[in-house]
Amino acid sequence: MFWADRIGKEIQDTRKPRDGKVFVIRDEKTLSGRVHIGSMRGVAIHGAIAEVLNEYGIPNKFLFELNDFDPFDTVPGYLDQEKFKEHLGKPLYRVPSPEPGFENYAEYYGAEFAAVHAKGGFFPEYYRTYKDLYAAGKMDALIKTALERAADIRRILKEVSGSHKDESWLPVSVVCEKCEKMMTTRAHDYDGETVGYTCDRSPDDTVPCGNTGRVRPEGAAMKLFWKADWAAKWVAMGVDIEGAGKDHSTKGGSRDVSKHIAKEVFGYEEPFDIPYEFFLVGGKKMSSSKGRGSSAQEMSELFPTDTFRLTLLGKEPMQQIDVDPSGDSVPRVYDWHDEIAEKVREGVADDFTRLHAFCQLPKDRAEGRAPWQLRFGQVAFMVQMPHLSLEDEAASVKGSPLTEEEKAALKERAEYARFWLATYAPEEYKYELQKTMPDIALSDVQKHALSLLKDFLTEHARTGEELHHRLHDLKTEASIAPKELFSAIYGLFLNRTSGPKAGWFLSVLPRDMVLARLEEAVK
Ligand SMILES: [Zn+2]
Repeated sequence: MFWADRIGKEIQDTRKPRDGKVFVIRDEKTLSGRVHIGSMRGVAIHGAIAEVLNEYGIPNKFLFELNDFDPFDTVPGYLDQEKFKEHLGKPLYRVPSPEPGFENYAEYYGAEFAAVHAKGGFFPEYYRTYKDLYAAGKMDALIKTALERAADIRRILKEVSGSHKDESWLPVSVVCEKCEKMMTTRAHDYDGETVGYTCDRSPDDTVPCGNTGRVRPEGAAMKLFWKADWAAKWVAMGVDIEGAGKDHSTKGGSRDVSKHIAKEVFGYEEPFDIPYEFFLVGGKKMSSSKGRGSSAQEMSELFPTDTFRLTLLGKEPMQQIDVDPSGDSVPRVYDWHDEIAEKVREGVADDFTRLHAFCQLPKDRAEGRAPWQLRFGQVAFMVQMPHLSLEDEAASVKGSPLTEEEKAALKERAEYARFWLATYAPEEYKYELQKTMPDIALSDVQKHALSLLKDFLTEHARTGEELHHRLHDLKTEASIAPKELFSAIYGLFLNRTSGPKAGWFLSVLPRDMVLARLEEAVK
């Protein structure tokens, strides 16, 4: 069973919405900079669960929190360090946007991330931590409870995660009234009305101002310590379903601590959990992959919506996803897509064809469309061969003219192939047709094989299939090792030792050119 159905049915069979009416599904992201593709996994998993529940006729809503109330703790490497350094330690909504046109830093990166959700066909209802939760007063009572029960929160932290906090520690970060920073303050006592704080901490070289004061917990004057904050948000938003990444889901990890705080401090059972694995980029985890192509925005540029959804939804939540834009994973994802689409066209109904349906947007799903497509690797090769008509060659590979839908799909795929070639594609996918004979040495055996190939082509034009079989037979006829034969062919036309499928490759080159080049080579 497709994993989203398995989870959807489990929810259907074992859960009731807390409010008796609508299941609340929630996910969130702290907008501390450009968002890594790893954070799209949660969006996709929660989004797919919302979609299956919709299919089953179970009312639900998918909420996404744009977290703008965590502290700005690092200036990302791609920003002007000098310009942003002074804002370190402030809540993200008080840090200026790197580009004009956005209210603040969090809004800028939030808009970029939300655009990636839309590219993936996910449209959650957005709300902001500062404006819609804290400043709206939805957290006030919960903050008071957490302050009153601070001793219990300290005990839970110790028992569940082994983390020790001293007696004066309170589960809040006060926003300093003087310097606006929240990372520099220490809340030390709560008298039932106000919290006393001192702005004297300097984590990661953040500069405190030395201010001291007392503030009431209301009105976004302070934010809950994040594991208590997570639990309190479940209560404030009435969350029924919320999964978490592997990094949070270990025993004694943040999810575990939040679950205990929710239950013991706020009297709230944790939401239905869906733990999920990492989305790696070239084998690297989110924390270590900061390279080109690892942001959600960059990854989304490599695929149209259906294929992007396949990368996000194609694996079980507890399986890792690994995509390396600068390796061969981009063509492999497209091939995977086409293999599943072929099954759909054959009328197969299994987990993979169900997955294919989920690669389409819900509104298009019922049609079950899966147009024939030329493989991405072939498209990527052809867009580099200026003499070729992509549409004609695709029709010849397909064996019949393309439909309008197939033509549109081909045009779109060609754009993605060109983009990939211009950005991340490794050298092995880049070809330049050699206008003149490259300077390569050929052995007598290679010359003999090429001359037999020339004879075969001289008779009349040959299809890729015919050339493929002829090359196969040549190996025995001319007693030549496959590697020697193929490297000679690629050498003559591309000045390299490897290339696309040789029979097909020869068939798409201009016949006159092939004959002339073979003639010259065997002289
Ligand atoms: Zn201060």
